[in-house]
Amino acid sequence: MADKSKKPAPNKPKFSAWWIYTAIILVFLALNFFSSSSDHGNPKEILENQLLTFIKDGDVKRIDINKSASNQVAYIYLTDEAKNKDKHTKPANNGMNFFNSTGGAEYEYRYGTLENFENSLAALKDENNFKIQYLKPENNMFSDILITLLPIAIIIGIWIFIMRRMSSGGAGGAGGQIFNIGKSKAKLFDEKTDVKTSFKDVAGLEGAKEEVQEIVDFLKNPEKYTNLGGKIPKGALLVGPPGTGKTLLAKAVAGEAKVPFFSLSGSDFVEMFVGVGASRVRDLFKQAKEKSPAIIFIDEIDAIGRARGKANFSGSNDERENTLNQLLTEMDGFGTNTNVIVIAATNRADVLDTALMRAGRFDRQIYVDLPDVRERKEIFEVHLRPLKKVAEELDTEFMAKQTPGFSGADIANVCNEAALIAARQGKSAVGRQDFLDAVDRIVGGLEKKNKIITPDEKKAIAFHEAGHATVSWMLEHAAPLVKVTIVPRGRSLGAAWYLPEERLIVRPEQMLDEMCAAMGGRAAEKVTFDKISTGALSDLEKVTKQARMMVTTYGLNDEIGNLTYYDSSGQNEYNFSKPYSEKTAELIDKEISKIIEEQYQRAIQILEDNKDKLNELAEVLLDKEVIFKDNLEKIFGKRPFDKNIEAETKNLPVSES
Ligand code: ATP
Repeated sequence: MADKSKKPAPNKPKFSAWWIYTAIILVFLALNFFSSSSDHGNPKEILENQLLTFIKDGDVKRIDINKSASNQVAYIYLTDEAKNKDKHTKPANNGMNFFNSTGGAEYEYRYGTLENFENSLAALKDENNFKIQYLKPENNMFSDILITLLPIAIIIGIWIFIMRRMSSGGAGGAGGQIFNIGKSKAKLFDEKTDVKTSFKDVAGLEGAKEEVQEIVDFLKNPEKYTNLGGKIPKGALLVGPPGTGKTLLAKAVAGEAKVPFFSLSGSDFVEMFVGVGASRVRDLFKQAKEKSPAIIFIDEIDAIGRARGKANFSGSNDERENTLNQLLTEMDGFGTNTNVIVIAATNRADVLDTALMRAGRFDRQIYVDLPDVRERKEIFEVHLRPLKKVAEELDTEFMAKQTPGFSGADIANVCNEAALIAARQGKSAVGRQDFLDAVDRIVGGLEKKNKIITPDEKKAIAFHEAGHATVSWMLEHAAPLVKVTIVPRGRSLGAAWYLPEERLIVRPEQMLDEMCAAMGGRAAEKVTFDKISTGALSDLEKVTKQARMMVTTYGLNDEIGNLTYYDSSGQNEYNFSKPYSEKTAELIDKEISKIIEEQYQRAIQILEDNKDKLNELAEVLLDKEVIFKDNLEKIFGKRPFDKNIEAETKNLPVSES
């Protein structure tokens, strides 16, 4: 929203491009009129040999020569007798020879060089009786001026036209006008603006909320802090995965802080003109200082705050670096700004320039993490408020447990999707099943009931999923199963849903059990049909990644030992050489495949030992398409390892095939 004072007055007449067009056409007409309406009428142009013939025939009475260098023309007047001759009576100039009747010249001849022309006339003068007159320079100043000014007028007209077009199009406000291109594009929220978001709308995120609330407090009561000798922080950086509520938190600050709040995105500094970014930063801080105490919020700051490169090969980053340098200077340069706090948000804190992150600029880094089960419950409560729901029957705690790994934005999406699903089915309120369907849809994609699957394929999918279910049921550390389905969704043909326990540290046996459960699908195909298929791609991908991490990242492999090749600083992002020797690379590859192979064999063993149960489960699955934990309990009996299935969860709960 732009500053209201900059809006044009509503009654101001609108400039119309038609005025320019009309003016240009009028000037053209005028010019044409003045240049053509000379004293010489509207003569027909002739060539030199025609003129000479007319003279020799005695038809010419007078020749008026215009000596002006810009208009080298001779006007030919005929004798009265000659005018009646056939060759001269044919209408000249498409019949528009009307000036002739008022005594204008009949013909005009454009001579090349005056001297040559005079010589050829002199040769004929003796034998033929005609007069030669030299004209005074024509007094057509008006048309001369017009001719000189017209191109300039046209250029100015076009320029004004383009400027007007540029200012009326685009984003509007200050940034829309070409003259204001260096002006900041920040939207200003102040006491006059009605921002509806408040801290009440931000669920969970207690720590982060407290920190930003404190920032608001700094600005409202600076003395409370400065009296004790403290300095007010310059900036706070909100860091976290996408959709966790960073922008929402900033919006809440705008709603709650009763100070001017400038909001813009990192990419608003970027323009195709060089120097505009830096100029916009200057302007932004200038405006903020004028209104201080104030808050500046820059969303997605990584657009300008990326680490400056050492070697700049293309030069294309210069503009971004200039913008960043200006930001650094404004935040902590010589001209320190008082009472302007910058809040920025990013989900790529790792790529930001270290100078930007140092104390004195963004003194505080506030981590906005994915919500835990309790926070998810609160977020559900916030987003359920506007829904017309069967609220009493919806257990938000249950929903929070069903959505491990979901961000705030995902949860908002679940609520919205649930409302859409309910509406599609013509319900008058949103119920529990709609929410569960929405979760399934968001995790697994759209249900594809009419996907064409042959009975053989369906059987293979059923055994594959039953394999996952059986193996994970039998392993102590595998995540507890929630449901198994062979309804195709999104890109998967079937899925086994788990609720993985939240673990802060993971032991090798836990990782191996998970890998074994993931290999259970392929193992079941092998055990049942003695054939394998491409259906295990996502399992293999997951398992290979896990095994590689065990060996190269976590130092969990005896052969490689207590080593890690992980680099948390991310410095080696563009380094193509491996941090280990070829020999170690071979060993790593060998160990990875050994781990996976062992787990595969283990899964096969488990399934061989429980083949009847596997078959039974697959049959139930083929029959019902979706089965839950209860169905498994009927076949396998109670799972001995289920301690606390409701435990807090973190990772995505699905194993897709
Ligand atoms: P990105 O980094 O991708 O810009 P973000 O962290 O800025 O993401 P937001 O735009 O703030 O994410 O969040 C998107 C939406 O998710 C919000 O509009 C809100 O509906 C919902 N949301 C996220 N977190 C919360 C929360 N803690 N409480 C309530 N709603 C939330």
